[in-house]
Amino acid sequence: MGTQSDIKLINEEGLRNDGRKFNELRPIRIEVGVLNRADGSAYIEWGGNKVLVAVYGPREAFPKHTQNPSRAIINARYNMAAFSVDERKRPGPDRRAIEISKVISEALEVAVFTEQFPRTSIDVYIEVLQADAGTRIAGLTAASVALVDAGIPMKDMVVGCAAGKIDGKVVLDLNKEEDNFGQADLPMAIIPRTDEIVLLQMDGNFSREELEQAVELSKKAATYISNLQREALMAKYKSQEPEKEGERSE
Ligand code: UDP
Repeated sequence: MGTQSDIKLINEEGLRNDGRKFNELRPIRIEVGVLNRADGSAYIEWGGNKVLVAVYGPREAFPKHTQNPSRAIINARYNMAAFSVDERKRPGPDRRAIEISKVISEALEVAVFTEQFPRTSIDVYIEVLQADAGTRIAGLTAASVALVDAGIPMKDMVVGCAAGKIDGKVVLDLNKEEDNFGQADLPMAIIPRTDEIVLLQMDGNFSREELEQAVELSKKAATYISNLQREALMAKYKSQEPEKEGERSE
């Protein structure tokens, strides 16, 4: 999150540098079942972010001492490719990736019926191929879809979204420039069916009112994103349905 700068992020008409209104998301596209060898997979494009997710499991947790006799453990591993950002990122896990992996694992754990799979692990590999701010929530949103694709039972899919503050105004879904030169960013994730907030982080400062506005903006957007997740899953299963007599194209 940047400090005060001269860069104007909202113009006279109230539009942002990429033409969006304060409550507008960047374009989102989700594809399901993109990897043959994973149990479940998904690919998401969210603005300039491109993230691939592969799910394996539930499978016997290894090493054995990591097993929990009463439930499955969720191991999310968030990784940013060296070529995903402007300045080459040093390969391998850093503190940021370890933190993001932990918060994503914990968010997914609330949604998955882990007690149905004791002693197992569910491994979720999140590979950021291109980053443009908001990769943790894009990765988490795609991870939920990949879990469903792997046939893992859940209360509902977790939806990630972020809101932030730029030029003193609360807006939805910061892009890279807004993330760099804005005043605050609030990534969060919810389970729409139960309205539970399962991830909430904050970078920068909000007043109490601004914080409430930011949460409200993300919650509204979550309903829309949740529909995109469902549509992506439906698209995969529709494409696999055998064609009915008479519908076959010549
Ligand atoms: N970023 C980067 N190099 C890094 C980490 C992050 O260039 O080592 C960029 C990347 O575009 C990322 C953005 O900074 O999307 C914001 O990072 P943040 O830690 O806020 O996480 P995110 O918003 O991606 O969840």
